[in-house]
Amino acid sequence: LPEIALAGRSNVGKSSLINRMVHRKNLARTSSKPGKTQTINFYRVNGQLYFADMPGYGFARVSKETKAAWARMIEGYLLNRRELKGVIQVVDVRHPPTRDDRMMYDWLKHYGIPVIVVATKADKIPRGKWPKHVKQVREGLQIGADDPLILFSAETGQGKDELWSTIAALVSER
Ligand code: GDP
Repeated sequence: LPEIALAGRSNVGKSSLINRMVHRKNLARTSSKPGKTQTINFYRVNGQLYFADMPGYGFARVSKETKAAWARMIEGYLLNRRELKGVIQVVDVRHPPTRDDRMMYDWLKHYGIPVIVVATKADKIPRGKWPKHVKQVREGLQIGADDPLILFSAETGQGKDELWSTIAALVSER
């Protein structure tokens, strides 16, 4: 089955996004404690594809060794997995992308891996400020004009349909 991986810093809302996308409350464990997931967790969706939830990056309070092991595992997966169709990179719409967000995005683009950027937690800012924040994300990551950026909320379900159709397009073309 095709796979779509999820990348994002710890606690950004990856598990919540997966749960919202697949109608489950707690299929993917959400946690208020950052940096818990250290392996890639696979979630099968409708017998059609897998979401591969990768451990969050940019968690400051882990050792160098842990970071290096993380990088080896993630790179091995992203560069060698035949089933991988693309990556959903999740960022927090409230804040400018971090250095780690930029590094991840640049790395994926460098290797030609398709990226769907999802700016989540939209419910946490007022509607009138959405355009400004979306622009901040687009410019912070230097997302190309033709590359997808989806405003999302795991709380309200906003962006869910758009994300599904973007995933479907990726899966069918690659
Ligand atoms: P992960 O570490 O990236 O998997 O992040 P989680 O999915 O565990 O989410 C971290 C925290 O952010 C939890 O307390 C979630 O309830 C909260 N959260 C995630 N997505 C949203 C969202 O879209 N809106 C709001 N209001 N809270 C969210």
